[in-house]
Amino acid sequence: MAVEQTLIVVKPDGFRRSLTGKVLARFEEKGFVIKNLKYYNFTKEKAQEFYSVHKDKPFFGDLVSFISSGPVVACILEGNNAVATTRIMIGATKSFEAAPGTIRGDFGLGFTDNIIHASDSPESFIKESRVIFG
Ligand code: ADP
Ligand code: MG
Repeated sequence: MAVEQTLIVVKPDGFRRSLTGKVLARFEEKGFVIKNLKYYNFTKEKAQEFYSVHKDKPFFGDLVSFISSGPVVACILEGNNAVATTRIMIGATKSFEAAPGTIRGDFGLGFTDNIIHASDSPESFIKESRVIFG
């Protein structure tokens, strides 16, 4: 187990519903340290770059529209096993199936609009954080 960094993004639905503080508090309470934080508006082009791994999926257009529909808060977190542990904390992709106790499981019922993104690998973290933080 190693100290790692990862990226989380409070998506437009989470920001709009004023869940940003609650979501960030969970990661702080868990022990992660905030290393960088940004209020950010995805352009369509940046959204396509951020989600390029999904470019051939049928939901890509909806996903790009959604993530660029309003402000997000992006945050680089540091701590033990950050990539895998934040993924456990956010829960399953479909909020309506996500386990209670997870962020998606506790705060929503959506699918595309599922409150939060977290990088799924160290490589994704590098790529995704470059899109947002440069
Ligand atoms: P995760 O965010 O859990 O890593 P994925 O990487 O599979 O999930 O998908 C990226 C995002 O695309 C999801 O968080 C969700 O917002 C959206 N999404 C995924 N699959 C679908 C789908 N079948 N229909 C609509 N939106 C989807
Ligand atoms: Mg993913």
